[in-house]
Amino acid sequence: MTRLEELLGEPGPELSVPAADAPSSGGSDAPSSGSLDAGSSGGPDVPDTGPVLSFRGCTRTYPGPPRVRALLPFDLDIPAGGLVTVAGPSGSGKSTWLSLAGLLDRPTSGTVALDGQETTTLSEIDRTDLRGRMIGFVFQAFHLMPLRTVTENVELAGLYQGMDRATRRDQAAEALAVVGLTPRAMARAGQLSGGEQQRVAIARGLVGAPRLLLCDEPTGNLDTATGAGIVTILERLAATGITVVVVTHDPDLAARGTIRVEIRDGRVHVR
Ligand code: ADP
Ligand code: MG
Repeated sequence: MTRLEELLGEPGPELSVPAADAPSSGGSDAPSSGSLDAGSSGGPDVPDTGPVLSFRGCTRTYPGPPRVRALLPFDLDIPAGGLVTVAGPSGSGKSTWLSLAGLLDRPTSGTVALDGQETTTLSEIDRTDLRGRMIGFVFQAFHLMPLRTVTENVELAGLYQGMDRATRRDQAAEALAVVGLTPRAMARAGQLSGGEQQRVAIARGLVGAPRLLLCDEPTGNLDTATGAGIVTILERLAATGITVVVVTHDPDLAARGTIRVEIRDGRVHVR
């Protein structure tokens, strides 16, 4: 049983809060309300100067054995806002790169700055905190809890960010509106179609108004038409100021990036 499942294992209509309700407003990391709305002009409430992600002299080598040089030295700046696609054949290093971008892993050498803050020297706790506040994740396989409602699945992200119940509810409702799933808010996640489930996962990734939404093959499990609907949502989000990064091996999707990163045999290029 994962920690996620443990937290949600309690029967009952409400999600339980493991810690006391966190301060819901006024804290330095309190998400700005309203910023999820794709129709509002603002986007996340942060300065819009400088790259959101900056890699310098980065490499990633898996020690093995056998030793794998998954990413060869690269520099890369990702400006804030827009759709960034990361393409390349299987085994080229895309997921390794995404793990560095998402602060899930550290480079073997080099530095990764998020909004100008160097992250590789931070403690694990500080990196986890930064990741929770700044980054949302969407995966190919959705990773929803099928017996829980759509709303509960989305609220879970707020639980991990220490939001109180009312804030979690508000943010979940807002995020579900952004992906067009308000009418299905009380359905069990497992009853939804694949495309709808991925929209739930996107909504979950949006809770807390992240600067970055990192998506690993988000259309990989979907048919072409459904996948196109997901891409449209991601493009709309990217236009609001969130930086949406999509790893894909689909050339058509890769071509839609405002910035197109390509990785081949561990070599990172920008098109
Ligand atoms: P992609 O996502 O493009 O398919 P990956 O980033 O998953 O590529 O993998 C890049 C290379 O690193 C591959 O050769 C893969 O076998 C290797 N690799 C990935 N993860 C590990 C790991 N934890 N330990 C050892 N080698 C790994
Ligand atoms: Mg991969």
